[in-house]
Formats: sequence, C-alpha cells, structure tokens
Amino acid sequence: MNDIAEQSAKALAGVLAFYKSKGCPCAFPRFFQLACFDFRHFGTGPVGCHLTDIMIDLAVTGPTATYKLLPGDEEKYRCAVCGTEGTIHSEQFNIHMWITVFKAEPSRARQLGHAADARLPIPGGLYGFKQEDMDRTSTYFGSGTVQEMVDYLMEMGG
Ligand SMILES: [Zn+2]
Repeated sequence: MNDIAEQSAKALAGVLAFYKSKGCPCAFPRFFQLACFDFRHFGTGPVGCHLTDIMIDLAVTGPTATYKLLPGDEEKYRCAVCGTEGTIHSEQFNIHMWITVFKAEPSRARQLGHAADARLPIPGGLYGFKQEDMDRTSTYFGSGTVQEMVDYLMEMGG
C-alpha cells in the first residue's frame, strides 16, 4: 500500500472507533454513503473504491465489525447493536478485480450523524477499467484530503 492508502486505512479505523463510541455506524448516514457505494447506480462499467472496501471490512465483515453474518446465510449481515440488516455481494470482473457491494436496508439506529447531503471527499482510491467510468462517479465522490474525509464522515447532527 502507498502512504495515502495506509493513512486512509488508519483514519477509517479511527472513524469506526468514533462510530462505535456513539453506538454503531448505522447512526451515521455518511457511513452508508461510503460503505454502500455501488457503481451500478451510475450506469458505468465496474468501478470500485478502496476506501469503501476498507470500511466494509472494518464495519461489516471483519473482526472489528458491529455487523455479524447471520447463521445459515452467506451474504446477509445484521448489526449487533441496532439490528440493521444488509447484504454483501462480491463479483469478479477479471483475475485482478473483485468488487464487493454492501446493500443496507434503511437504518434502524437513531440518526446522530449529519445527512449524506454532499459529495464524499476522498483522497483517491477509485479503481476500474476506464477513466471515464471513474469520472462518472464524480457526482458521488469529490476529492479531498484524508482529514477532510474523516471530518465529513464524523460530522454530527442534522
Ligand atoms: Zn447498527
């Protein structure tokens, strides 16, 4: 990983710790903005985001996650704190590119974080086959520093 990727991964671990200190990530609409990015909403070829991948691992599928896999299911997860459910689906586009999409149902947590009312500032991290595909997600992701991304994800209220 390069420096930005490493810094981003550390920063997102801090964001998740903040969310957990308030209950769970589901109280933050901007958590879902990052974790539920799905290129299919943009009518493009496959585009993934490393930061989305990291947040899914941290919050949904990995050892620090509040979400747990439902017994007997391969794709369905439920937040152990608030009960919000979602599915994880991975699709392989070539030998090097897997894209994992987290689709969450409406959150069951009382909202604490700010609405997802702006482009999510990210310090790079998109991947895909064509630049034009990645460019079409610019209505969703803006460019920003690691700190701007963290501040946006942790903004409280309204
Ligand atoms: Zn939750």
